[in-house]
Amino acid sequence: MYDVAIIGAGPAGLFAAKKLVGAKSVVVIEMGKEPLDRKPSENPKDAIFGIGGAGTYSDGKLNLTYEIGGSPEELKRSAAELQMFIDEVDSILVSYGAPKEFSGTNGNELQELKKKAESAGIEFVAGKQKHVGTDKLPRIIDKFYRELKKEGIEFILDTEAKKIKKSEGLFEIDTTEGNIKCNSLICAPGRSKAYWLRETLHELGVKTKYGPIDVGVRIEFPAEIYENIERIMYDAKFRLYTETYDDMVRSFCTNPRGFVTTEQFDGFVLVNGHAEKEKKSKNTNMALLNRIILTDPVEDTTEYGRSIARLASTIGGNKPIIQRYKDLRKGRRSTWERIGKAPIEPTLKEVTPGDIAMALPRRVVQNIIEAIQKLDFVMPGIASDATLVYAPEIKFYDTKYITNEFLETNVSNLYVAGDASGFSRGIVYAAVTGIISAEGIKSKGKSPKEKLK
Ligand SMILES: Cc1cc2nc3c(=O)[nH]c(=O)nc-3n(C[C@H](O)[C@H](O)[C@H](O)COP(=O)(O)OP(=O)(O)OC[C@H]3O[C@@H](n4cnc5c(N)ncnc54)[C@H](O)[C@@H]3O)c2cc1C
Repeated sequence: MYDVAIIGAGPAGLFAAKKLVGAKSVVVIEMGKEPLDRKPSENPKDAIFGIGGAGTYSDGKLNLTYEIGGSPEELKRSAAELQMFIDEVDSILVSYGAPKEFSGTNGNELQELKKKAESAGIEFVAGKQKHVGTDKLPRIIDKFYRELKKEGIEFILDTEAKKIKKSEGLFEIDTTEGNIKCNSLICAPGRSKAYWLRETLHELGVKTKYGPIDVGVRIEFPAEIYENIERIMYDAKFRLYTETYDDMVRSFCTNPRGFVTTEQFDGFVLVNGHAEKEKKSKNTNMALLNRIILTDPVEDTTEYGRSIARLASTIGGNKPIIQRYKDLRKGRRSTWERIGKAPIEPTLKEVTPGDIAMALPRRVVQNIIEAIQKLDFVMPGIASDATLVYAPEIKFYDTKYITNEFLETNVSNLYVAGDASGFSRGIVYAAVTGIISAEGIKSKGKSPKEKLK
């Protein structure tokens, strides 16, 4: 029997545990392995599951501004409060070996880029940013994990939470290795298990609503095209509205000289990308995501996203689809022969050349084509015939839990955190939501004034 159980040892779970050190007895239930035992190249599941979560084998682009990766309004906190939590996450990561240097605040050049983007109707969201690198992050997380164990946090690994019950004020978690009881529960299973969490918590009477979903592609182009921007901000964020549909498309997760990768889910495969500090490719990749909001009569954006992902995986033979931008624009299928004509080599080989318009809704395809054309103004060359387009890239953080300002749901002592909660879209914000939920547990019983101290 524990004071607190945490499901998931991603950034949200680890930072929640850190915040509870010394105050509560805490167990973290994690279905994956220790950071350095994870071997993503041998076992694709190790890329997502295990201590440190999906972030561990990502390249660790740390967005250190409250404007990227989450929202003060959704979290019912002021921008200043969130910035304080973000700075706390940063200083903890630095204490375990993350770099002190950052980009994204470089005065004149940054202002020039902002102006240039604005003149093309593009918003450039700047902010402090760090790049840790896939080759360094696992060791940083490993240090963090070992420290937590020394500080008294218990970890149960290779153990999956299956069901959650509540009786007489206590939670009982059925896991693959037996039952665990606790007074308070933080659920932080990440994006890949967001659907499982929603189903499980609905059975407990937890209330949710649907938020927007991001559906799109990942584009890859010669690294030189992005070099001028990289100097200003490593992972620049652009947002624009498209001509035809007036929909919002944003750039996300840019990997200078990086690699396109896959994310394997139950029943489909998605694309993603990462960059390493030492090993470099000749290409840069970035996601272009189209925000989709559903209302009447269907609100279930998760199911909508899954249907698209399944269709794309069927068409691609359970591999992502790759297409030259020229072929996408002209409405014809790419073949290896056509891709071979482009002066760029794809960094992801396990792909099927095809027609993305067969897999993604017409509206998304049109928005992507228009977004690439518009972005060519700030990144000349990006709309060249040779740019490679991979699909689908979908971000499942569309289930929004109805919570108080400590992320406690309508079921007392049950908290949600991280990407599965719908409140974060990256390592730093996921960590912040972990801290907030832990603060909620620690401040139970205190007066409202004391709680927000
Ligand atoms: C390839 C890739 C690259 C990325 N690059 C970046 C980047 O550069 N910068 C950035 O900010 N973000 C990046 N992200 C996103 C980032 O990794 C996530 O936003 C972040 O990890 C979310 O943290 P989390 O704690 O919510 O969930 P996760 O990190 O997904 O962790 C959840 C953990 O819960 C465990 N779990 C799930 N269900 C159960 C269960 N039922 N029982 C027990 N354990 C369970 C999982 O094994 C996992 O370890 C990337 C993601 C990917 C996949």
